[in-house]
Amino acid sequence: GSKDVIYKVSVAAAQRDIVLTFEDQTASEEAGQMRRDFVANVSHELRTPLTALLGFIETLNGAAKDDPVARTRFLDIMAHEANRMRRLVDDLMSLTRVEEDERVRPREKVELGALLASVIKGLEPQAAAAGVSVALALVAGEETVPGDAGQLVQVFTNLVENAIKYGATGKEVRVALMPRTMHQRLRAEAVQITVTDKGEGIAEHHLARLTERFYRVDNHRSREVGGTGLGLAIVKHIINRHRGRMTIESQLGEGTTVSVFLPTARLS
Ligand code: ADP
Repeated sequence: GSKDVIYKVSVAAAQRDIVLTFEDQTASEEAGQMRRDFVANVSHELRTPLTALLGFIETLNGAAKDDPVARTRFLDIMAHEANRMRRLVDDLMSLTRVEEDERVRPREKVELGALLASVIKGLEPQAAAAGVSVALALVAGEETVPGDAGQLVQVFTNLVENAIKYGATGKEVRVALMPRTMHQRLRAEAVQITVTDKGEGIAEHHLARLTERFYRVDNHRSREVGGTGLGLAIVKHIINRHRGRMTIESQLGEGTTVSVFLPTARLS
């Protein structure tokens, strides 16, 4: 019989070359496709800084060999590109680790107020550099949840970092810890932590896809602020492991609020 064939057309413009790819998307082997997409994405993300590095090495070996000013400038750019590769590799390793951990329930008793305070303190230099102030409101004084403290630090570091990176125009980030209440979807008591920025916001049609690996609203902006596109994917896996939930509400031009709900009872 005749079947519809769907083609995905991607355009990649690298330097001067424009590459048009036609991919047959009809096959129902979605998992395989996802894995191939992931490998292709990783390769592309690593190749871009690598190409830049090789280009600068060549220039340093040739035209800029005896130019100390150019040398310093190029070495700065090279360090920037190498750092970008390191962040990507670090995030890839985190992602793999949290995926492997997902079946093991975390059992530490985590004091959320103290954890949030230390996350914010750790991000102070970054916030200051962006001209952002981060406020912490502990509506619930002392709340503990069963969890993996190291992973929860990673969750809130990623969320507050995003609020700083993409919320800078609004200059204000607010983190709040709310008292435990009954959560309908989770059918359990949960505490809510919100991270709110007054930044550029996110158009509604993007919201559902933000936790996909390498999904970015604005590629250029994400790279500029040092994003890997993996932050929210890592966050999602960690929250799943804690049997929690995350919601993202946003209004273009107004800002974004990310809410994390974490169950308070022992995880089974
Ligand atoms: P990245 O490393 O690119 O920041 P994330 O997975 O953390 O990747 O986020 C995915 C995308 O979601 C970002 O590239 C950005 O476009 C968007 N995003 C995340 N948080 C915010 C926010 N607070 N305000 C606006 N856009 C955001």
